[in-house]
Amino acid sequence: MQKIPVIYSDIFLTDYRTVDCESPDRVTEIYYDIKGMADFIEPEPCTDSDLRLCHTERIIELVRKSDAYNAASLAVGGAIKAAEVALATPSFALVRPPGHHAGRDFNGGFCFFNNMAIAMKRLLRDGKIERVLIIDIDLHYGNGTEDIVRGDKGISFWNVDGATRDEFFRDLEGAVRIASGFDIVGCSAGFDTYIKDWGGLLNTGDFRRVGAMIASSNRRFFSILEGGYYIPDLGINVRAYMEGIQEVM
Ligand SMILES: [Zn+2]
Repeated sequence: MQKIPVIYSDIFLTDYRTVDCESPDRVTEIYYDIKGMADFIEPEPCTDSDLRLCHTERIIELVRKSDAYNAASLAVGGAIKAAEVALATPSFALVRPPGHHAGRDFNGGFCFFNNMAIAMKRLLRDGKIERVLIIDIDLHYGNGTEDIVRGDKGISFWNVDGATRDEFFRDLEGAVRIASGFDIVGCSAGFDTYIKDWGGLLNTGDFRRVGAMIASSNRRFFSILEGGYYIPDLGINVRAYMEGIQEVM
């Protein structure tokens, strides 16, 4: 089996903790469960001009003063790296803090900067692609991403929704059906839809199916970790998702 490039740094274990559930242990658990199938790549922090692609000076300065800044700017750098790697091969950004609740001039929900939106805007700005699709499979609506990409003709956003497992997959199928029409697909990969997590929807095998479905929809594809708070099974769920991707690589 081909290994998957995984962007990771120990800096993501920084204990800036906003709330107890968004613990560094999330990343540790995932790291150990996926290390056999991963080619780890060390990210570099993003620049201020990267942050300005999506955020106001107010938000940038607010985060700069917080103890999460180093991890947050490196998470953005990791997302950018994952997007660039994905031009050649599918990749995964194992980053923390998550990003999809960070909007242009607001943040919250354990998010500081919008990793996904910045990564996509960088690819677009650098002229590497023209049309991108963001699929958000986290339990929670990607309100920050929606706020930033609204009105941007180069970026389409599909937030997968569903009160049941069947509804979730039906909605995901809709996203997958249009995905081949884009230059690249990015998945905001949250695992809090898990049956034992807050969402109570998907089992471990379902994450494998989700990974395979999205990966087979477009050969340029990357994922960025968002939520997922049931730590005992978080690693095996991410591994199942990555195995789904490997199946179709
Ligand atoms: Zn979530």
